[in-house]
Amino acid sequence: MNKMSVSDLGNIQGKKVLVRCDFNVPMKDGVITDENRIQGALPTIKFLMEKGAKITLCSHMGKPHNVFDAKVKLNKKEQAKVDALPAEEQEAAKAELLAKAEGDKKKLTLKPVADRLNELLDNKVTFATDVIGEDAKAKVAACKDGECVLLENLRFHNGETKKEDDFCAALAEYCEIYVNDAFGTAHRSHASTAAIVEKGLVKTAVCGFLIEKELTVMADTLENPQRPFIAILGGAKVADKLNVISNLLEKCDTLFIGGGMAYTFIKAKGGNVGTSLVDDEKIEYCKQMLEKAEKLGKHIVLPVDTVAAASFPSPIDAPIETKIVDTMSIPDDMMGLDIGPATRQMFTNLLDTAKSAIWNGPMGVFENPTLAQGTIAVAQALANLYGKCTTIIGGGDSAAAVQTLGFADKMSHISTGGGASLELFEGKVLPGIACLNDKN
Ligand code: AMP
Repeated sequence: MNKMSVSDLGNIQGKKVLVRCDFNVPMKDGVITDENRIQGALPTIKFLMEKGAKITLCSHMGKPHNVFDAKVKLNKKEQAKVDALPAEEQEAAKAELLAKAEGDKKKLTLKPVADRLNELLDNKVTFATDVIGEDAKAKVAACKDGECVLLENLRFHNGETKKEDDFCAALAEYCEIYVNDAFGTAHRSHASTAAIVEKGLVKTAVCGFLIEKELTVMADTLENPQRPFIAILGGAKVADKLNVISNLLEKCDTLFIGGGMAYTFIKAKGGNVGTSLVDDEKIEYCKQMLEKAEKLGKHIVLPVDTVAAASFPSPIDAPIETKIVDTMSIPDDMMGLDIGPATRQMFTNLLDTAKSAIWNGPMGVFENPTLAQGTIAVAQALANLYGKCTTIIGGGDSAAAVQTLGFADKMSHISTGGGASLELFEGKVLPGIACLNDKN
């Protein structure tokens, strides 16, 4: 990796450092239900604290529906919406929007994260109730060496996602050094993830240990994999992963395709897919990928059997009657909802030979226990490779499955960013990383 990291910074005693973290943790009724992301940020924060920096931490949380600072107000789009209504309806519409914003402000505050950080960091974290307002400015100015201020949710301001100049400039006031350690948002070009550096407002910009680890493991495996290198892709639609398929085909030796995506490929090969999820517009694309694989001497491995049902489960976890059918001849009135037992065995056997493996996307409608067997089998097969293969889980549903099944410590790397790791798999340069200083 040729980007500078916090360990390249030299003496930072007393220096103002802004750290973009990913504290977008799942919460229920104000309680954090999974603190992996907080734990993931600790090595960088502790390192900077030990070095005596004055640290400002910032993150987004969820997608607040409105723009608001200390005081709730309508943003321009919402105001325009209200203005377009007949005069007698405007007051009620405005009140409804403000009530939603007020609700988001309570639900999506980073205060519980500050409380947890304080427990983990010896009470050295102060929480600012705004981002660029008076409270934040005063607390950042009063921050002592080796201590931290956590700003309120960045997305309470429109300026964050819109990269507004004023907002970027105000954030840049908090730092002489910018550290990006939020891999989960590194594929976004927002004020705090890239723009304050891109606009030249901060000159020293480095990554934290979390991003360094994500890049080292994933980029190195993609560029210099131990072979055989097997990629496993699943999930709903081919259309969402067009560039991922094409790029991975160039890097790996074998590409397994499961999940809803598989049926467009099966149809492209002349199979009958019944009422399975199919993207007719992408059949030509699938044919091209099958040809590309052949030309490159690579293998695209598709399911040979499928767990089919009369309809999609509703609700998604409802009991469902299923039948195992040949993937190439799914009955007209049935849809494929998971890979079948022969495919599970085939994928497991092939994986056993792998020296590198990456996985993104479930093999079926894993939210339903009857349709989760394919996803579980892939997670189990990867866990079995512990110690003899580099196994990378590309975030999102696959990471959740591996964690729920208790296989997390059997994987070489579980990415903290589903969207960001998919963009790495596409071969894209992530803005939050591209903006950082190169080594030397
Ligand atoms: P993605 O966000 O593209 O990774 O897709 C994840 C979703 O794909 C999950 O919610 C699964 O339920 C869904 N999925 C997986 N296999 C199928 C299938 N055979 N048919 C319909 N949906 C599927």
